[in-house]
Amino acid sequence: MTEEPVRYQRIGPVAVVTMNRPEYRNAQNSAMTYALDAAFTRAVDDDEVKVIVLAGEGKHFSAGHDIGTPGRDVDAHFENKAVLWWDHVGKPGGDQRYAREAEVYLGMCRRWREIPKPTIASVQGACIAGALMLAWVCDMIVASEDAFFADPVVRMGIPGVEYFAHPWMLGPRAAKEVLFTGERFSAAQAKEWGMLNRIVARDDLETETLALAGKIAEMPSFGLALTKKAVNQAEDLMGMRPGMDSAFGLHHFAHAHNAEVSGGDSLGGQDAKSMAAAARKA
Ligand code: ZN
Repeated sequence: MTEEPVRYQRIGPVAVVTMNRPEYRNAQNSAMTYALDAAFTRAVDDDEVKVIVLAGEGKHFSAGHDIGTPGRDVDAHFENKAVLWWDHVGKPGGDQRYAREAEVYLGMCRRWREIPKPTIASVQGACIAGALMLAWVCDMIVASEDAFFADPVVRMGIPGVEYFAHPWMLGPRAAKEVLFTGERFSAAQAKEWGMLNRIVARDDLETETLALAGKIAEMPSFGLALTKKAVNQAEDLMGMRPGMDSAFGLHHFAHAHNAEVSGGDSLGGQDAKSMAAAARKA
Protein backbone atom coordinates (compact mmCIF):
# COMPACT_ATOMS: atom_id res chain seq x y z
CA MET A 1 0.00 0.00 0.00
CA THR A 2 1.95 2.95 -1.29
CA GLU A 3 -1.06 5.25 -1.75
CA GLU A 4 -2.07 7.61 1.03
CA PRO A 5 -5.36 6.42 2.58
CA VAL A 6 -6.68 10.01 2.56
CA ARG A 7 -6.06 12.89 0.13
CA TYR A 8 -6.23 16.55 1.10
CA GLN A 9 -6.93 19.33 -1.33
CA ARG A 10 -7.83 22.98 -0.87
CA ILE A 11 -10.11 24.61 -3.42
CA GLY A 12 -10.42 28.27 -2.43
CA PRO A 13 -12.10 28.36 1.00
CA VAL A 14 -13.04 24.68 0.85
CA ALA A 15 -10.90 21.77 2.07
CA VAL A 16 -11.75 18.52 0.31
CA VAL A 17 -10.81 15.43 2.31
CA THR A 18 -11.05 12.29 0.21
CA MET A 19 -10.94 8.68 1.40
CA ASN A 20 -8.57 6.97 -0.97
CA ARG A 21 -8.81 3.19 -0.84
CA PRO A 22 -11.08 2.76 -3.88
CA GLU A 23 -9.79 -0.77 -4.54
CA TYR A 24 -11.42 -1.73 -1.21
CA ARG A 25 -14.46 0.52 -1.60
CA ASN A 26 -12.79 2.89 0.87
CA ALA A 27 -13.07 0.43 3.74
CA GLN A 28 -12.03 2.33 6.85
CA ASN A 29 -9.01 0.89 8.66
CA SER A 30 -7.20 2.64 11.52
CA ALA A 31 -4.60 4.08 9.14
CA MET A 32 -7.44 5.81 7.30
CA THR A 33 -9.08 6.91 10.56
CA TYR A 34 -5.96 8.70 11.75
CA ALA A 35 -5.28 10.10 8.28
CA LEU A 36 -8.82 11.53 8.28
CA ASP A 37 -8.20 13.04 11.69
CA ALA A 38 -4.94 14.61 10.50
CA ALA A 39 -6.69 16.04 7.43
CA PHE A 40 -9.55 17.48 9.49
CA THR A 41 -7.05 18.98 11.95
CA ARG A 42 -5.16 20.58 9.08
CA ALA A 43 -8.40 22.08 7.76
CA VAL A 44 -9.36 23.39 11.21
CA ASP A 45 -5.93 24.98 11.68
CA ASP A 46 -5.95 26.68 8.26
CA ASP A 47 -7.67 30.07 8.60
CA GLU A 48 -8.26 30.14 4.85
CA VAL A 49 -10.49 27.08 5.09
CA LYS A 50 -14.13 27.89 5.83
CA VAL A 51 -15.88 24.62 4.92
CA ILE A 52 -14.76 20.97 4.82
CA VAL A 53 -16.04 18.40 2.32
CA LEU A 54 -15.66 14.66 3.03
CA ALA A 55 -15.68 12.53 -0.11
CA GLY A 56 -14.76 9.02 -1.27
CA GLU A 57 -12.59 8.22 -4.29
CA GLY A 58 -14.05 5.90 -6.91
CA LYS A 59 -17.46 4.30 -7.36
CA HIS A 60 -18.35 4.20 -3.67
CA PHE A 61 -18.25 6.58 -0.73
CA SER A 62 -17.32 3.75 1.66
CA ALA A 63 -18.19 0.15 2.48
CA GLY A 64 -17.70 0.85 6.19
CA HIS A 65 -15.19 -0.44 8.70
CA ASP A 66 -12.44 -2.65 7.38
CA ILE A 67 -13.41 -6.18 8.44
CA GLY A 68 -11.53 -8.06 5.76
CA THR A 69 -8.97 -6.30 3.52
CA PRO A 70 -5.23 -7.03 3.58
CA GLY A 71 -4.77 -3.61 5.20
CA ARG A 72 -6.95 -4.43 8.19
CA ASP A 73 -4.95 -3.10 11.13
CA VAL A 74 -7.02 -3.71 14.27
CA ASP A 75 -3.92 -4.89 16.14
CA ALA A 76 -1.75 -1.92 15.20
CA HIS A 77 -0.86 0.82 17.64
CA PHE A 78 -1.88 4.42 16.97
CA GLU A 79 -1.68 7.24 19.45
CA ASN A 80 -5.11 7.95 20.96
CA LYS A 81 -6.67 11.24 19.86
CA ALA A 82 -10.29 11.01 20.96
CA VAL A 83 -10.29 9.56 24.46
CA LEU A 84 -7.91 9.39 27.41
CA TRP A 85 -7.73 5.62 27.79
CA TRP A 86 -5.05 2.97 27.54
CA ASP A 87 -4.05 1.43 24.24
CA HIS A 88 -6.05 -1.61 23.08
CA VAL A 89 -3.02 -3.48 21.71
CA GLY A 90 -2.27 -6.66 23.64
CA LYS A 91 -5.32 -6.42 25.93
CA PRO A 92 -7.63 -9.43 26.28
CA GLY A 93 -11.35 -9.74 25.46
CA GLY A 94 -13.67 -6.87 26.16
CA ASP A 95 -10.81 -4.75 27.49
CA GLN A 96 -9.31 -4.71 23.97
CA ARG A 97 -12.60 -4.15 22.14
CA TYR A 98 -13.85 -1.41 24.43
CA ALA A 99 -10.53 0.47 24.39
CA ARG A 100 -10.33 0.30 20.60
CA GLU A 101 -13.94 1.12 19.73
CA ALA A 102 -14.28 3.90 22.31
CA GLU A 103 -11.34 5.56 20.57
CA VAL A 104 -11.48 4.82 16.84
CA TYR A 105 -15.24 4.54 16.35
CA LEU A 106 -17.38 6.36 18.91
CA GLY A 107 -14.67 8.74 20.11
CA MET A 108 -13.39 9.76 16.70
CA CYS A 109 -16.90 10.26 15.34
CA ARG A 110 -17.80 12.49 18.26
CA ARG A 111 -14.56 14.41 17.81
CA TRP A 112 -15.30 14.99 14.13
CA ARG A 113 -18.90 15.97 14.80
CA GLU A 114 -17.47 18.82 16.86
CA ILE A 115 -15.13 20.14 14.16
CA PRO A 116 -15.72 23.90 14.49
CA LYS A 117 -16.22 24.40 10.75
CA PRO A 118 -19.16 23.25 8.62
CA THR A 119 -18.64 19.80 7.12
CA ILE A 120 -20.44 18.33 4.11
CA ALA A 121 -20.42 14.63 3.17
CA SER A 122 -20.45 14.03 -0.56
CA VAL A 123 -21.82 10.51 -1.02
CA GLN A 124 -21.99 8.24 -4.06
CA GLY A 125 -22.53 4.49 -4.39
CA ALA A 126 -22.24 2.44 -1.22
CA CYS A 127 -22.48 4.04 2.20
CA ILE A 128 -22.68 1.04 4.48
CA ALA A 129 -22.53 0.58 8.28
CA GLY A 130 -19.38 2.38 9.50
CA ALA A 131 -19.65 4.67 6.47
CA LEU A 132 -23.02 5.90 7.74
CA MET A 133 -21.17 7.08 10.85
CA LEU A 134 -18.84 9.18 8.70
CA ALA A 135 -21.70 10.72 6.73
CA TRP A 136 -23.74 11.33 9.89
CA VAL A 137 -21.03 13.24 11.72
CA CYS A 138 -20.99 15.75 8.86
CA ASP A 139 -23.32 18.72 9.17
CA MET A 140 -24.91 18.22 5.78
CA ILE A 141 -25.09 15.34 3.34
CA VAL A 142 -25.25 15.68 -0.45
CA ALA A 143 -25.79 12.35 -2.21
CA SER A 144 -25.89 11.29 -5.82
CA GLU A 145 -28.87 9.42 -7.22
CA ASP A 146 -26.96 6.13 -7.19
CA ALA A 147 -26.11 6.35 -3.48
CA PHE A 148 -27.42 3.59 -1.23
CA PHE A 149 -27.24 3.08 2.49
CA ALA A 150 -27.52 0.23 4.98
CA ASP A 151 -26.62 -0.78 8.50
CA PRO A 152 -26.65 -4.59 8.31
CA VAL A 153 -24.71 -5.31 11.52
CA VAL A 154 -27.79 -6.76 13.26
CA ARG A 155 -26.86 -9.81 11.14
CA MET A 156 -23.89 -10.10 13.52
CA GLY A 157 -26.27 -9.94 16.46
CA ILE A 158 -25.09 -6.40 17.15
CA PRO A 159 -27.59 -3.56 17.69
CA GLY A 160 -26.27 -1.15 15.04
CA VAL A 161 -22.94 0.55 14.44
CA GLU A 162 -20.96 2.12 17.28
CA TYR A 163 -22.03 5.73 16.65
CA PHE A 164 -25.69 4.96 17.30
CA ALA A 165 -27.32 8.04 15.76
CA HIS A 166 -30.00 6.10 13.87
CA PRO A 167 -33.07 7.31 15.82
CA TRP A 168 -31.95 10.95 15.49
CA MET A 169 -30.87 10.73 11.84
CA LEU A 170 -33.83 8.69 10.57
CA GLY A 171 -36.59 8.94 13.16
CA PRO A 172 -37.44 5.95 15.40
CA ARG A 173 -39.64 4.00 12.98
CA ALA A 174 -37.31 4.26 10.01
CA ALA A 175 -34.38 3.48 12.32
CA LYS A 176 -36.10 0.26 13.38
CA GLU A 177 -36.91 -0.69 9.78
CA VAL A 178 -33.34 -0.08 8.66
CA LEU A 179 -31.90 -2.06 11.57
CA PHE A 180 -34.48 -4.87 11.70
CA THR A 181 -34.23 -5.65 7.97
CA GLY A 182 -30.58 -4.74 7.39
CA GLU A 183 -31.64 -3.91 3.83
CA ARG A 184 -30.29 -1.19 1.61
CA PHE A 185 -32.23 2.03 1.29
CA SER A 186 -31.99 4.46 -1.59
CA ALA A 187 -31.00 8.11 -1.62
CA ALA A 188 -34.63 9.02 -2.35
CA GLN A 189 -35.76 7.04 0.71
CA ALA A 190 -33.02 8.58 2.87
CA LYS A 191 -34.12 12.06 1.79
CA GLU A 192 -37.74 11.28 2.60
CA TRP A 193 -36.65 10.23 6.11
CA GLY A 194 -34.78 13.51 6.51
CA MET A 195 -31.26 12.08 6.42
CA LEU A 196 -30.07 13.93 3.31
CA ASN A 197 -29.96 17.58 2.32
CA ARG A 198 -29.77 17.11 -1.44
CA ILE A 199 -29.80 14.47 -4.15
CA VAL A 200 -27.98 15.33 -7.36
CA ALA A 201 -26.98 13.54 -10.56
CA ARG A 202 -23.81 11.45 -10.18
CA ASP A 203 -21.94 13.62 -12.68
CA ASP A 204 -22.86 16.77 -10.76
CA LEU A 205 -21.99 15.50 -7.26
CA GLU A 206 -18.65 17.24 -6.95
CA THR A 207 -19.72 20.56 -8.47
CA GLU A 208 -23.00 20.68 -6.53
CA THR A 209 -21.23 19.89 -3.24
CA LEU A 210 -18.59 22.53 -3.90
CA ALA A 211 -21.27 25.06 -4.87
CA LEU A 212 -23.07 24.49 -1.56
CA ALA A 213 -19.76 24.68 0.32
CA GLY A 214 -18.93 27.92 -1.51
CA LYS A 215 -22.23 29.48 -0.48
CA ILE A 216 -21.65 28.59 3.17
CA ALA A 217 -18.06 29.87 2.94
CA GLU A 218 -19.41 33.40 2.43
CA MET A 219 -20.66 33.44 6.04
CA PRO A 220 -18.39 34.52 8.90
CA SER A 221 -16.40 31.61 10.36
CA PHE A 222 -17.04 32.37 14.01
CA GLY A 223 -20.78 32.74 13.37
CA LEU A 224 -20.79 29.38 11.60
CA ALA A 225 -18.88 27.71 14.44
CA LEU A 226 -21.31 29.04 17.07
CA THR A 227 -24.32 28.10 14.95
CA LYS A 228 -23.02 24.58 14.51
CA LYS A 229 -22.52 24.29 18.27
CA ALA A 230 -26.04 25.56 18.91
CA VAL A 231 -27.60 22.94 16.64
CA ASN A 232 -25.39 20.14 17.98
CA GLN A 233 -26.31 21.10 21.53
CA ALA A 234 -30.00 20.99 20.57
CA GLU A 235 -29.45 17.49 19.17
CA ASP A 236 -27.80 16.44 22.43
CA LEU A 237 -30.71 17.93 24.37
CA MET A 238 -32.89 15.58 22.30
CA GLY A 239 -30.99 12.80 24.00
CA MET A 240 -28.52 11.88 21.30
CA ARG A 241 -25.40 11.81 23.45
CA PRO A 242 -26.70 9.79 26.43
CA GLY A 243 -28.74 7.63 24.03
CA MET A 244 -25.56 6.77 22.18
CA ASP A 245 -23.72 6.04 25.42
CA SER A 246 -26.36 3.53 26.46
CA ALA A 247 -26.39 1.94 22.98
CA PHE A 248 -22.59 1.66 23.12
CA GLY A 249 -22.93 -0.47 26.25
CA LEU A 250 -25.44 -2.77 24.50
CA HIS A 251 -23.14 -2.88 21.47
CA HIS A 252 -20.27 -4.15 23.62
CA PHE A 253 -22.51 -6.58 25.45
CA ALA A 254 -23.35 -8.01 21.98
CA HIS A 255 -19.67 -8.25 20.99
CA ALA A 256 -18.95 -10.04 24.29
CA HIS A 257 -21.93 -12.37 23.84
CA ASN A 258 -20.73 -13.27 20.33
CA ALA A 259 -17.26 -13.96 21.64
CA GLU A 260 -18.61 -16.06 24.49
CA VAL A 261 -20.78 -18.33 22.33
CA SER A 262 -18.54 -18.61 19.26
CA GLY A 263 -15.05 -19.21 20.56
CA GLY A 264 -13.88 -15.62 20.72
CA ASP A 265 -15.36 -14.21 17.50
CA SER A 266 -16.95 -10.87 18.45
CA LEU A 267 -18.47 -10.45 14.96
CA GLY A 268 -20.75 -13.47 15.29
CA GLY A 269 -19.15 -15.45 12.48
CA GLN A 270 -19.62 -12.69 9.91
CA ASP A 271 -16.92 -11.18 7.75
CA ALA A 272 -16.98 -8.71 4.86
CA LYS A 273 -17.72 -11.48 2.35
CA SER A 274 -20.63 -13.06 4.18
CA MET A 275 -22.10 -9.62 4.96
CA ALA A 276 -21.92 -8.67 1.28
CA ALA A 277 -23.46 -12.00 0.25
CA ALA A 278 -26.33 -11.53 2.71
CA ALA A 279 -26.86 -7.98 1.41
CA ARG A 280 -27.05 -9.23 -2.19
CA LYS A 281 -29.73 -11.73 -1.21
CA ALA A 282 -31.82 -8.98 0.35
ZN1 ZN B 1 -18.17 -2.79 17.44
